[in-house]
Amino acid sequence: MRTRFESIEKSFFIISVAVLAFAIGISLRCRLSQLSIHIAPARSISTMSYSQELKVAQLAVQRAAILTKRVFNEKAKGTLSKDDKSPVTIGDFGAQALIIQAIKKNFPSDEIVGEEESSSLRDNKDLSLRIWDLVKEVKLEHADSDSLLGGPLSSEDAMLESIDQGNSAGGVKGRIWALDPIDGTKGFLRGGQYAVCLALIVDGDVKVGVLGCPNLPVDDAATLTEDMGTNQTDQEGKGVLFAAVKGQGATSRPLSTASLEPSKSIQMRPVPDILQAVFCESVEPGHSSKGDNAAIAEKLGITSKPVQMDSQAKYGSIARGAGDLYLRLPVRKDYQEKIWDHAAGDLIVREAGGVVTDANGKQLDFSQGRTLKDNVGVVAAPEAIHAKVLNAVQGVLGLK
Ligand code: AMP
Ligand code: MG
Repeated sequence: MRTRFESIEKSFFIISVAVLAFAIGISLRCRLSQLSIHIAPARSISTMSYSQELKVAQLAVQRAAILTKRVFNEKAKGTLSKDDKSPVTIGDFGAQALIIQAIKKNFPSDEIVGEEESSSLRDNKDLSLRIWDLVKEVKLEHADSDSLLGGPLSSEDAMLESIDQGNSAGGVKGRIWALDPIDGTKGFLRGGQYAVCLALIVDGDVKVGVLGCPNLPVDDAATLTEDMGTNQTDQEGKGVLFAAVKGQGATSRPLSTASLEPSKSIQMRPVPDILQAVFCESVEPGHSSKGDNAAIAEKLGITSKPVQMDSQAKYGSIARGAGDLYLRLPVRKDYQEKIWDHAAGDLIVREAGGVVTDANGKQLDFSQGRTLKDNVGVVAAPEAIHAKVLNAVQGVLGLK
């Protein structure tokens, strides 16, 4: 009797141990898999490829360019004058709303430093409605790409809110996008060059840069002509999308209205004879000193006239070897360059083999807020000749 009882007790003990071991095994597996979920992002941070950011940024710029092209080809562009007397159009507001919506859909906790804000539209219902009429119609002709960006905005209010999410103060910490929905608005109004510009800055360092230039030739080999900045169209053969990721090189591809077209790698061209270098400058005399540029060109022995064009199309043009140098020297001591006017172009040129500094030879510092307050002007050139160009710049400006 006793032995029978003992053997039942023994089997009960063995079964309990087996059940317990099984339960411990399952819980250990669960914990390990949770642990690997926690470990995975940490590993991917150290080898960030920024491939998703690059894809979203390029598609967002491409979608916004559908809207800017529509406005570019209309006579009435809904122009307002901002407090600093610079113009803004329905194209600027609409493009900013669309791009910010796409960033927030994909990267909700990222901040955005955008050039525009909506207060003037909240006081001007007609203009706000005109922009909404445009924005609600714009979509990429490729369903998956369009839905990646979040599809259409839900309402006019959502559009205004989206515009105002570009209000980040910028700074040295975190993920911050710099957005100029239409860089070169004056060129856009004149029928010259303009660019839709977007860059991701992480802890003060530009990691991704994208420029959509609807009026530049698709062909990277097309040489820059003196009239490149005037009487432009965005018709057949025009429209290019430049992009770069830090450490991964720079590319160009045709600006499409659907999914991304195949890309080509771009490089600055070698300049064996500096006398033959082609340099780019702003059209607007109020944005950079034409007199200093002419004196620098003379010092370097360059005799050809500079190619004048608006916007960061200048950075894109030298990055693909259509031109060689970009000089932007201050006309006013108190003006601080804006980060959205340079972040994307700076990275694209550097990733194409160029060096970009200010007139003091310092790298552009995107960690200082909404402006480049620690920099003076811009000197962009191929690596092999940058020191020589900077030397001429400093000679003319009396900086040495
Ligand atoms: P760009 O088309 O290259 O001449 O540059 C256009 C950008 O110049 C605009 O987006 C403005 O933010 C910027 N800008 C406005 N005033 C000035 C100024 N006084 N100096 C330099 N840039 C300026
Ligand atoms: Mg601008």
